[in-house]
Amino acid sequence: MKILEAFEQKLKEGSFTPEDRGEFMRQVLALKKEWVKKDFIIKRLTEGRKITENFLTKTVEELEGKNAELSETINELERVNGKLVEINKELEQFAFMISHDLQEPVRTILSFSDLLVQTRRDELDEKTKIYLDLISQSSYRMRNQIKAILDYSRIGKTGSKSKIDCNHIVDDVMLDLSSTIEEKGASILKDKMPCIFGYRDELRSLFQNLLSNSLKYSKDEIAPNIQIKCQSVEKFWQFSVKDNGIGFKPEYKDRIFVIFQRLQNKKNMHGSGIGLSRCKKIVELHEGKIWADSQPNVGSTFYFTLPKVEGRKIRF
Ligand code: ADP
Repeated sequence: MKILEAFEQKLKEGSFTPEDRGEFMRQVLALKKEWVKKDFIIKRLTEGRKITENFLTKTVEELEGKNAELSETINELERVNGKLVEINKELEQFAFMISHDLQEPVRTILSFSDLLVQTRRDELDEKTKIYLDLISQSSYRMRNQIKAILDYSRIGKTGSKSKIDCNHIVDDVMLDLSSTIEEKGASILKDKMPCIFGYRDELRSLFQNLLSNSLKYSKDEIAPNIQIKCQSVEKFWQFSVKDNGIGFKPEYKDRIFVIFQRLQNKKNMHGSGIGLSRCKKIVELHEGKIWADSQPNVGSTFYFTLPKVEGRKIRF
């Protein structure tokens, strides 16, 4: 611009030469070129802005669509979850009623077959005695299974949560199992345990099941060596019960938690196949998780988590 002012000055003074005219034209052309370039850039920027705006609008629309879909899915999941909770409750009530009502007829079968054997034993031929024995054995098994289902459906229904010192629970369980511990020459090592806010009977049953399994599924040739550990993992206590027993194939690690699923049927390893499903229900009642690791002939480790007590929320 300063150059143009200089030309203007020259014009005013009358000293504008033909060379100045040529120079003046060159300057005007250069300025025009620059303006065209600027205009081009402005156009490109405006176009770019429009493209970006369109893209953003489209993205926002798509995101809003996805958000709506997600909300719908969440609503559907909540609905299904509510239904599942309802069905689960119904099933539990059903299991409770059936097992409760079945107790009486089984008791009747048992007492009459016992009575028959006691009062008419001499009149019965050998075959009838065998049949009666079979009826009686099956009825006792049925009675135990019905009781197990009844106990299973009652988990968390009686009693209320309180502060539980897991050290006391483990000590009590070890005392209960002392004759088996002694008989098998088992050594049990345990960490210091924390306090938990939970159901006393259920937590006791949890430790009892895991410990008695570690003793039951031990190898004949070596004494059971059991380690009960506990470590802090974020908002949970993670417990583990490790043994050096017969173990099982890793592919069965989920199946063993299903009710009535057993891997062994050896005579000295009797059971109903409900212990670990009880453990699962108890741990889940406390909002924890349970799982297992195992190698055949090496041993098994059962892990479970229980939430830590939040000091400020719960006062003991
Ligand atoms: P039960 O002991 O009455 O059979 P559980 O539900 O307690 O029922 O266990 C299910 C199955 O898991 C057992 O039959 C057994 O095969 C396997 N199992 C459980 N604990 C152990 C363990 N510590 N070592 C090896 N196998 C085990």
